Amino acid sequence: MKITLDTPLSEIPSVGDKRSKSLARLELNSVSDLLFFYPRRYLDLRNFKKISMLSPGETASVKGKVAAREEKALRGRTSYLNVALSDGTGVLFTVFFNQPYLKDTFALNREFFISGRVEEYKGRIQMVNPLYEEYRDGKRDWLLPVYPLSEGLTHKYIRRLIKLVMDRLAEYPEEILPLKNRLDLKLPNVKFALRNIHFPLSDMNLEKARNYLIFREFFILQMGLLLRKEKEQKKSKVCDTGINEGLIDVFESLLPFKLTKHQKKVMLEIVGDIKKGMVVSRMIHGEVGSGKTVVAVFALWLFSRTGVQTALLAPTEILAEQHYLNWQEFFLKQEIPVALLLGQFPEKEKNVTREGIKNGDIKVLMGTHALLTENLQFKNLGLAVVDEQHKFGVKQRELLKEKGKDVHYIVMSATPIPRSVALTFYGALDISTIGELPKGERRVLTYIFQNEEKERIYRFLEYQNSQGRQGYVVTPAIEGNENIKSAVDEYDKIKRDLPDVPCGLIHGRLPHKEKEEIMRRFREKKTGILVATSVIESGIDVPDASYIVIEQAERFGLAQLHQLRGRVGRSGDVGYCILVPESYDDGDVMNRLESFVAAESGFEIAEIDLELRGQGDLLGVRQHGIPPLKIGNIVRDMELLTIARSEAQEVVKKLPPEEIEKKFLKGVFTND
Ligand code: ADP
Ligand code: MG
Repeated sequence: MKITLDTPLSEIPSVGDKRSKSLARLELNSVSDLLFFYPRRYLDLRNFKKISMLSPGETASVKGKVAAREEKALRGRTSYLNVALSDGTGVLFTVFFNQPYLKDTFALNREFFISGRVEEYKGRIQMVNPLYEEYRDGKRDWLLPVYPLSEGLTHKYIRRLIKLVMDRLAEYPEEILPLKNRLDLKLPNVKFALRNIHFPLSDMNLEKARNYLIFREFFILQMGLLLRKEKEQKKSKVCDTGINEGLIDVFESLLPFKLTKHQKKVMLEIVGDIKKGMVVSRMIHGEVGSGKTVVAVFALWLFSRTGVQTALLAPTEILAEQHYLNWQEFFLKQEIPVALLLGQFPEKEKNVTREGIKNGDIKVLMGTHALLTENLQFKNLGLAVVDEQHKFGVKQRELLKEKGKDVHYIVMSATPIPRSVALTFYGALDISTIGELPKGERRVLTYIFQNEEKERIYRFLEYQNSQGRQGYVVTPAIEGNENIKSAVDEYDKIKRDLPDVPCGLIHGRLPHKEKEEIMRRFREKKTGILVATSVIESGIDVPDASYIVIEQAERFGLAQLHQLRGRVGRSGDVGYCILVPESYDDGDVMNRLESFVAAESGFEIAEIDLELRGQGDLLGVRQHGIPPLKIGNIVRDMELLTIARSEAQEVVKKLPPEEIEKKFLKGVFTND
């Protein structure tokens, strides 16, 4: 039988019905899928331990002879096989569940490599369902691939199947990497890479194969992203909007402060896009407090002046409200009608606003998710701005711009995005960075306190209040249970223990009117301590807040902690951030929090976060319509990623989109 890349695995003789289902569960349907199914890691058979040196908890490999075996049937259909292996220094017990046929494999005196997690059981050292490979003198592969498996499959089987496929393969996949890149980066060809990723003959071959496949993966990814971006920008509508750089000065003259250099730079970039006749598609990113809002307002103002409608979407009602309160007057003075739309507003009020949007009376609309509902129709939406974009799902944040035709699109991110992530997942957006803070570097001192030091924290709160300073106390939940601290309880406690400090409580479940009132009182300094959930994390700007206490800090992500910390020290004075973890003696927790204390910029934190949490989790990869990365890692392989990006750019410049699609992408990208 001739096998091609498209041959379905189910047509290969040794693949039965059951196996083909198991393979499909791993998304392995065709020969090509199988070739690009990468091992998760490799077992290095040169690297084994003496059995006497094993300790419980570690993952290790040993080499030993079968000294005894015993098969046991349990209740129902369960059975297990016990195999004792000896290497002269000790005995390792291995347990295999439901694989009675292994009895013949583990014949007495045969020698095996065994690899797995060491456990202690009834005083013996054992491994459950370990990997195994018979040791025979002579030719042998030292690096054994370990695949992610599904039920009904073994490593041995996958290995055999790949071998069979490779032996009979009519033709390997087309070589898509330019020769120049392969020479520069010392990368092999595709055939070498695939053979060596599955059956590495040496460490060096494996290294080369990996680099090749990582680069190839990034290269395809970038190509797809660049193509998507090009498609977006082709939708340009060259028309004379009268927009030019001079308007930045006009805008500045309407503000109570001077724009920073970086704010101006980003505004220039936006104006530049428009002058080129492009549909703006930009992410503005900058540290918390860098003044992104003004830039967004500039864009709203700029476009509203040309007669189109504009909208600003914020993730929380408090933030939408803040934007509205801060900028309503500005727009009204320019005779640009502006409105706020929140889900919580009475139906009647919402209807009035919706009507004004539909007939075009309202030019600037600010609000929350209420902007996304179907019953809101714009007359001529021209610009959609999404604040704190990471708080929205991808689909969600794109809903707004779909309420018009060729809508200009700006998203703002306070979570600094590592360059690698930006290149990968936001490759379709242009990126503008605001790299400085308007009031100079902010200083927030961060400390970790133990739960038992609560008394000290309360004294600190009391002292701050006596000095006329206000701040936040944040808890992970609104209402808690025995495990989670709640804002409601904390509020009661502070009121009881610090009766002289005016204290407020805010969380997402309060009615809008109440939230508005509470924030107003806090802004006016009628409240000293604001007890809150993470609702205050996004964008809240109360310049006089000078401290934030975060209870059960380990329950927040690092990026989230950074956002919270960004709420204080905004006036130019030193701010304080106090973390109160519950698990003070948990090493991992403390390491994470200490790295947070040490990290100065959100940028550093994003990098740490990415390392700790991994890439998929961070970004909800699939949502982007981007194929998940199978071998590349955007932190570890950053260098290859950057090169892949610029090489892909070269190709996109040279080849027409259809050809790129056909040659490189072939349906890998899903959503357009
Ligand atoms: P973020 O980038 O976190 O969204 P904001 O837009 O909320 O930051 O801005 C933080 C604070 O800085 C606000 O109070 C804002 O009015 C102020 N601000 C912004 N730009 C300037 C500037 N050029 N000069 C002085 N203050 C500014
Ligand atoms: Mg903001």
